[in-house]
Amino acid sequence: MDPLKRLLKLIKDNDVQEIYFRVTDMDGNVKHMTHDVKVIDSDAMTEGFDGSSFPGWKEINESDMVLIPDLTTAQMDPFLSVPTLTIICNVFEPVTGERYNRDPRGIAERAETYSRSTGIADTVYVGAEPEFFVFDDVKYQTDPYNTGFKLDSVELPINGDKSYEEGNLGHRIQTKAGYMSTPPQDSGQEMRSDMSAHIRAMGVTVEKHHHEVAPAQHEISTKFNTLVRSADEVQIFKYCVRNVADRYGKTATFMPKPVIGVNGSGMHVHMSLWNGDKPTFAGDEYAGLSESCLYYIGGIIKHAKAINAFTNPSTNSYKRLVPGYEAPVLLAYSARNRSAACRIPFGSNPKAKRVEVRFPDPAANPYLAFAAIQMAGLDGILNKIDPGPAIDKDLYELPQCEKAKIPTVCGSLSEALESLSNDRAFLTAGGVFDDDFIDNYIKMKMDEVTLLETTPNPVEFQMYYSV
Ligand code: GLU
Ligand code: MG
Ligand code: MG
Repeated sequence: MDPLKRLLKLIKDNDVQEIYFRVTDMDGNVKHMTHDVKVIDSDAMTEGFDGSSFPGWKEINESDMVLIPDLTTAQMDPFLSVPTLTIICNVFEPVTGERYNRDPRGIAERAETYSRSTGIADTVYVGAEPEFFVFDDVKYQTDPYNTGFKLDSVELPINGDKSYEEGNLGHRIQTKAGYMSTPPQDSGQEMRSDMSAHIRAMGVTVEKHHHEVAPAQHEISTKFNTLVRSADEVQIFKYCVRNVADRYGKTATFMPKPVIGVNGSGMHVHMSLWNGDKPTFAGDEYAGLSESCLYYIGGIIKHAKAINAFTNPSTNSYKRLVPGYEAPVLLAYSARNRSAACRIPFGSNPKAKRVEVRFPDPAANPYLAFAAIQMAGLDGILNKIDPGPAIDKDLYELPQCEKAKIPTVCGSLSEALESLSNDRAFLTAGGVFDDDFIDNYIKMKMDEVTLLETTPNPVEFQMYYSV
């Protein structure tokens, strides 16, 4: 159906009173302006907003910006008693009318256009798996940072074994033993079903959900979609997860490593390239892959340290990328190996052939992360970048001499930002990212590095208070 007709029908059928104009800022946060539905009567359905109030966007003297809704994204919001419709918007310059170069959704759209222009793939499918933790509302916690450091505690556990629950923990999920637990050990079953119902109600296909490995860690899987749409869906997903958790008196966090000593939260990104109805990743090479898929992996491995700036964009991200917690450290690929940066999921169906990139985490802005991975992969195909041999061993347990030969993901956000600064040509190809955006992004993120480096950390009190 024509998007405008569909929108008007949604408004009429649901007696819509208000409309959310939604946008994602550079950090990946969803923001919105709420409008009375009568805005739909105005000739141009646009919204002015103050671009200087979002980090990394406009200066105060040029702060006016314009949001133009993508009508295809109109959806009812299932959380409100006042019937409210939500629409994802694109950001434009008010004077020139051009797309704003720092709009993350615009970058993802340009990545899709670029892929088509190379002739390599007319469709890039992305399936993201954001994991998350659910904690009791932070205001009830004595240790909101979950460092294990409690000012009134004699014991100061930092191994994470002591969880956030009080009392007899015998019937609760133990460290690293949560995967696929059933109720009552999994006390989040009903909440996850409720989250899934809300995600579905916002037009996203939910496939399955389960308790994850760490206590209080969860995963809900949604179906793959085209790159921009898949990024839109991650934003819808996070909104639903956070709001349902809130209704249960809890908080959901997508912070990559909220608790020491247990698995962190990843956002694995599954990708496949298609030309028409041809899945270009299926072939006769290793694990049933095509040669171009191996080159795609080669590009991801080559540019991984620069991509980390987008896929792992927080200082906390690098606390997850350590050995022993199903998160990758070494930049290798393998079939079925969860310690590898790129895994080829099991399956013989050529249509399901895909690469699972395992280093991204859910702090990522999905528009930027998906675009960056795709650009690295396409660079691999265009330049025939050899990914080297697959490594099917447990990479955490490799002898030191073998490990030393394999490149690693970045060890810190500052390393990732420096890598991005030095390795950016693959991103600026076709004008997908531009230098203005990249320089500004690095500046914005370096402020986070500096803030952490200059802030006393709770764990430093434990280590150094009595020195
Ligand atoms: N939580 C793990 C990570 O940090 C991933 C677990 C899984 O394979 O689903 O990436
Ligand atoms: Mg998982
Ligand atoms: Mg996965």
